[in-house]
Amino acid sequence: MIRDFEYFSPKTLKEALTLLDKYQDECKVIAGGQSLLILMRQRLVMPEYLIDIKGISELNYIKSDAKEGLRIGALTTHRAIEKSPAMKNGFSVLAEMEHRLASIQTRNWGTIGGNICHADPTGDPAPVLIALNATLSTASLKGKRNMALEDFCLDYFETALEPGELLTEIQVPAVPPHTGTAYAKFNIIESDMATVGVAVSITLGSGDGMCKDIRIVLGACASTPMRAKQAEEVLRGRKITDNLFKEAGQIASQEAEPISDISASEEYRRELVKVLVARVGKEALARANQA
Ligand SMILES: Cc1cc2nc3c(=O)[nH]c(=O)nc-3n(C[C@H](O)[C@H](O)[C@H](O)COP(=O)(O)OP(=O)(O)OC[C@H]3O[C@@H](n4cnc5c(N)ncnc54)[C@H](O)[C@@H]3O)c2cc1C
Repeated sequence: MIRDFEYFSPKTLKEALTLLDKYQDECKVIAGGQSLLILMRQRLVMPEYLIDIKGISELNYIKSDAKEGLRIGALTTHRAIEKSPAMKNGFSVLAEMEHRLASIQTRNWGTIGGNICHADPTGDPAPVLIALNATLSTASLKGKRNMALEDFCLDYFETALEPGELLTEIQVPAVPPHTGTAYAKFNIIESDMATVGVAVSITLGSGDGMCKDIRIVLGACASTPMRAKQAEEVLRGRKITDNLFKEAGQIASQEAEPISDISASEEYRRELVKVLVARVGKEALARANQA
């Protein structure tokens, strides 16, 4: 049973930040509740005050601009992202990722901001957004902060959010020309969390087909989503071949820091990294060649 709490449902960001500032450690923010309510039912989290931000419409939007890229309000649901026409402008990988996240019911109510703030290292959005070089904005009564999403995830279920702060927006820069991004997760039960997830983004030089830039991001392979930076170096500045993808997969599987748990052993996860880096890399390359 969930322990009793006092409930607030602010309708503006300012109202929410004022409540957060007032109740600090004694309160918890709830958005879609798809992750938080599980923790509350298990009494792992027992707030005195619950601040329900789902009704703050100023944080629920998707804005798309050819030069600036995407701006997604923290309260945008997974389903809204999956179905948004804005994803067609170079961000189809986000819609594909959302399509495989949980069930339609969970996607209809769970928010992108809640997913990122929950900071589950097996979550799907963060690896894809990091591959796309996403940044985010937070707000508190003290003001606004901006940071790379890569720097936001600090440890298992731990973020760089400070007391009194809310995540307000995720920004995804416009995709450079000749760029392809792909994501795949391995899971045994459809709509479950990833056993391993891999996102790869490749930018090719115009005309020469050389790998100008690459980001390889692993999910469920460490306490946070992690870049496989040594594997990226195998490919950066070179003409990519199947053999190089294989080599990058081997190196990424050594860089990964997976644990053994009920979903898979550490060894199995390392094998998955090997296979998925090569497979997802090939898909990203094919997309970059067509872009
Ligand atoms: C059956 C099921 C299957 C799932 N499968 C997947 C899956 O395949 N892949 C996947 O990635 N996820 C999966 N999830 C997790 C879930 O989809 C997300 O974690 C969820 O969308 C979180 O969003 P929410 O709005 O419900 O957050 P909530 O549960 O309301 O909040 C989560 C945490 O974030 C904090 N928070 C929320 N919004 C903000 C904000 N704007 N600023 C600061 N803090 C905030 C809350 O205080 C809380 O700590 C699954 C969940 C369920 C129940």
